[in-house]
Amino acid sequence: MPEGPSIVILREAAEGFAGRTIARASGNSQGVDVAALAGQPIVALRSWGKHFLIQLPTLALRIHLLMFGSYRINQRKPDSEPRLSLGFDDGEELNFYTCSVKTLPPDLDALYDWRVDVMADQWDPKLVLKHLRARPDMLVCDATLDQDLFAGAGNIFKNEVLFRIRVHPLSQVGALSAAKQRELVAGMRAYAFDFLRWKKAFVLKQHWQAHTKRICPRCDIPFHKAHLGKTQRRSFFCTRCQKQYPPAALTPVRSDSRPRSQRTPPAS
Ligand SMILES: [Zn+2]
Repeated sequence: MPEGPSIVILREAAEGFAGRTIARASGNSQGVDVAALAGQPIVALRSWGKHFLIQLPTLALRIHLLMFGSYRINQRKPDSEPRLSLGFDDGEELNFYTCSVKTLPPDLDALYDWRVDVMADQWDPKLVLKHLRARPDMLVCDATLDQDLFAGAGNIFKNEVLFRIRVHPLSQVGALSAAKQRELVAGMRAYAFDFLRWKKAFVLKQHWQAHTKRICPRCDIPFHKAHLGKTQRRSFFCTRCQKQYPPAALTPVRSDSRPRSQRTPPAS
């Protein structure tokens, strides 16, 4: 799934379309009245987390690339019908495939809190820390994927940041020290810009230390791999150098409906 930095790359690649008028629109998306788009100028191109936003005078379009979405600028994907295609009078075009397209009201500032977007200029680490501390029972493997806490972060962020700060994915947010919570927030922001830089240079995967890896580069022992938390996304972690807060033996056993993965030690 494209994470926030990849959407920033899309926004930067498309920024030349801002201020121009849509000459034609087509596509098989059910989420937008494509016929109403032609003739409208693009007021701004923005992004929030994993959302790419096309702001028009009377509405905004929210494009979410989901798991397998893609886009082409001034090109078309062979044998693929775009969900949304926007054409301009010089023949240039913006095409989106296998994505979700939704119509939003035009005032995006009323809809989105840019301060929680890991890529945004308005990023506010104190506010994010406050939100995080309001969810003490949340597991960090879920918190790092929560779009209300860290908009734009995805599974790569989760695995890489928790490895960097030496925190086990089944740790509880409220059991981390205040310093460790700050380190988590700062770590998410720092990784966002490493991700962006490496993705632009086509070297992102080369820099993965934990995500999809088999051996811990710090300890030279096998990583554990498990689908953890409410999100049940793949976690890669080292039980030697990534500490669990509170320690696993002290974690209260609850008779609720948490998934098995949260109640038993992670399978290797
Ligand atoms: Zn290790």
